[in-house]
Amino acid sequence: MDLSRTLTGFGAALLATALLAAPAEAGAPGDTPSTRDFGNGPERNEVAAVDSIASQSARTLPAEEPASTWSLRKRKGYPRQTSLPVWPANPEDRSIKLGLVPYHEIAPKLNALQQASDRVSAEIIGKSAGGRDLYLVTVTAPESAGETARQDHWRELIEDHPAAAKRDRALRAGYKAPVWINANIHGNEWEGTDGALRVIERLATATDPATKDFLEHSRVYLTVTNNPDGRVAGTRANGAGFDVNRDHATSTQPESRAVRDVVIGTQPFVMLDEHGYTGTTLIEPATAPHGQNYEYDLYIKHALPNALGMEKAVQQLGLPETAAADIPFRDYAPGDWDDWPPIFTPMYAMYHGAIGHTVEIPLRVNNADYNNLPVEELRRRARINTDVAAATIEAALTYTGTNRATLLADQIEQFRRGWAGEPSPTIPDGFVPGFGPEDRFSTTFPRAYVIPAGTPAAARLVDHLIANDVRVTRARHDFTANGKRYQDGTYIVDMHQPKRGLANVLLEAGRDISDLVPQMYDISGWSHGLLWGARVDASPRTLPHVRTSPVTRATPTGSVDAPRGRDLTLSLRDGNDVRAVNELLAQGVKLRRTDASTIVVPAEARPEATALAKTLGVRFTAAPRGVKGDVLDQPVIAGAVSADELFALKEMGFTVQTVSTAVLNAGFDLSGVDTLIVSSGLSYTALNATARATVDAFLARGGGVITRGATGAAFNAAAKVLPATAVAGRGDANGVVTVNNEGPVVGAGSPAHSFVYSPIWFTGTGFTVEQRYGADPLVAGHWLPTSAGVNGPAQAAGQAAVISGATAGGGNAVLFGTEPLFRAHPKGLYAGYARALFWTAG
Ligand SMILES: [Zn+2]
Repeated sequence: MDLSRTLTGFGAALLATALLAAPAEAGAPGDTPSTRDFGNGPERNEVAAVDSIASQSARTLPAEEPASTWSLRKRKGYPRQTSLPVWPANPEDRSIKLGLVPYHEIAPKLNALQQASDRVSAEIIGKSAGGRDLYLVTVTAPESAGETARQDHWRELIEDHPAAAKRDRALRAGYKAPVWINANIHGNEWEGTDGALRVIERLATATDPATKDFLEHSRVYLTVTNNPDGRVAGTRANGAGFDVNRDHATSTQPESRAVRDVVIGTQPFVMLDEHGYTGTTLIEPATAPHGQNYEYDLYIKHALPNALGMEKAVQQLGLPETAAADIPFRDYAPGDWDDWPPIFTPMYAMYHGAIGHTVEIPLRVNNADYNNLPVEELRRRARINTDVAAATIEAALTYTGTNRATLLADQIEQFRRGWAGEPSPTIPDGFVPGFGPEDRFSTTFPRAYVIPAGTPAAARLVDHLIANDVRVTRARHDFTANGKRYQDGTYIVDMHQPKRGLANVLLEAGRDISDLVPQMYDISGWSHGLLWGARVDASPRTLPHVRTSPVTRATPTGSVDAPRGRDLTLSLRDGNDVRAVNELLAQGVKLRRTDASTIVVPAEARPEATALAKTLGVRFTAAPRGVKGDVLDQPVIAGAVSADELFALKEMGFTVQTVSTAVLNAGFDLSGVDTLIVSSGLSYTALNATARATVDAFLARGGGVITRGATGAAFNAAAKVLPATAVAGRGDANGVVTVNNEGPVVGAGSPAHSFVYSPIWFTGTGFTVEQRYGADPLVAGHWLPTSAGVNGPAQAAGQAAVISGATAGGGNAVLFGTEPLFRAHPKGLYAGYARALFWTAG
């Protein structure tokens, strides 16, 4: 696009600075029209995680627990006044320097507003990773308990019986339009919170007839800060180091789970996710590629006019910094700001019936600017940003109030199409101004998905689907479908359901979109169907012919299938198997290992095994009589790992001492360590002489090594771990790939698919190939060769993706060119990584 159109004076200077400050990305084209802030992306190889939240290790793996006991349904009307606990004043809160509301002042403010107005209700909907309260504010005209119950009934009718909802005159007249404002999901993008609080204050006290009428016909829900840990600390990520706005669909973090429950519970017509800072205000709708599972016509017909209304409101602030707004759909080239993956809050919300918008307020106050700009300038910017946030929220409320009837009709239509199993309509060019062939995406939904039961992976997936409001049933007897025989208890996802788009975007393989656009904003591939370790069969045309029952929770899967007195074996096929092994080791049970994936549990530990079979859903079987194996000790791990890897390792029950270049240079002692993991923030060449000698000594005595990614490959070369040469694919390439499993450690028992981000492959001899990239490896995602025509999937085809071998010192090493723990998403790859960990530690 023509950058000059949107860039003038001050804004242009800001944007130029922002572009220069953006992380370098190998092979990605330049001229990005907006600041690209990556979440757990390329920078995750640079910054080693520090273990700041020890309590995370107490999490249990299988539970898809709700974010809180919070529920919209309380048999209460509105207001629902609460007294929110007040947090101690924290003078270190990074909001203070900007003149913004620090986290500890939010609860007192909300308590005062609840006291002052019968339109305001505030409640706690969960806790952040760092343990802080997450607030939901509801602003609406008072309702009796009976009126609220009727609203609840209507909301369910819209989703469950859209045809009846459409005919219901009382519903059409009386249903309150739900709007949801999510603020501050990136902790160092502060002012969405302050803008939201300002809007709450106005709505609480306004006496004009328009506001009163609006609140009679609407409910406004505001999650005033979705990331209190980051707000306080001045970080994008939450307290666990996760970018919450990349976590939807996987939902590993309490912050994303909390708003998942809000969006399901409130079913908003319109939602805004308030971010910053793009130099010029940015308001979605996004560019192509558009997610192929949306009912995009129902979205764009509202999203564009709502964005234009927000743009106008920003312009009416009358400041030079607010003279223009960028609307990516209108102003940017395809791929520059797309809505393809369901990992962003507004995109995720679209599948629940919302017209979702990311809004980026303009003036940068975070990162280097936070430290370098004068306080007065920071506060001036923060005031303008707050004005912009408030203006966009007010404009979206106005749009919702004005278009309540059509928004209702279109949400009903989205769910109706789902139930009816109708193809999404083909949208004609010019449907809205600027809609062209590049915007046209659609898919053919399968008639059903079939998920055989009995494994922890299947149970995890089914519980995850249910937590996402996807409807799942269970077959009541054996059946045959598409020539395959399935057992009683098999799960079925009938795709004739209101949120079929969400079901499909989670379960489908996805699509290779490399040819469509030169680059993408974030990941382009994911697949719970291919990467979560459960078998998922699509039934393209027919619903399996079998009686079913609805499922509210997956059937427990664990068992101990062995005669009493016999030793047991556990096969490491799932993250929960690994967790069980780690729990047994932590309980002092003496385990043995007969090969990389087979663990022997002594007969006398049967009670412990039985308990774990129950809680983790894992299956113990009878060990062959007289089997021996090597003693398996709890591995002592030092890890220079990214935050998402640390999280995934803890999910599996590993204890990791976090290290980095700096930590080793400060004299970290590797003498008791079994395995050193290098994937983030550890450079052998940047080590001082003492630290290098420590690493050399570790390798010389046969210490184990695991590496991943570019940082790991550089360490392998510099420290001479395995005689392999790493070849890097394009830096921004990512997606689901096919792999051929060959080796005994990672390869044996791994799924036929893996995930890559900045893929790597290995050449040379003197090692064992564990996994190779398939012949045409990219199944879904975006992976182009570089301009020289190399480093693409064609070059990776058939090459070694994961290798294992013996180091010169006699230790074991495994090198990953794939991303088995990426953002804690590919749960089906966890066990392969863990097998590598036990093997290198042994
Ligand atoms: Zn953001």
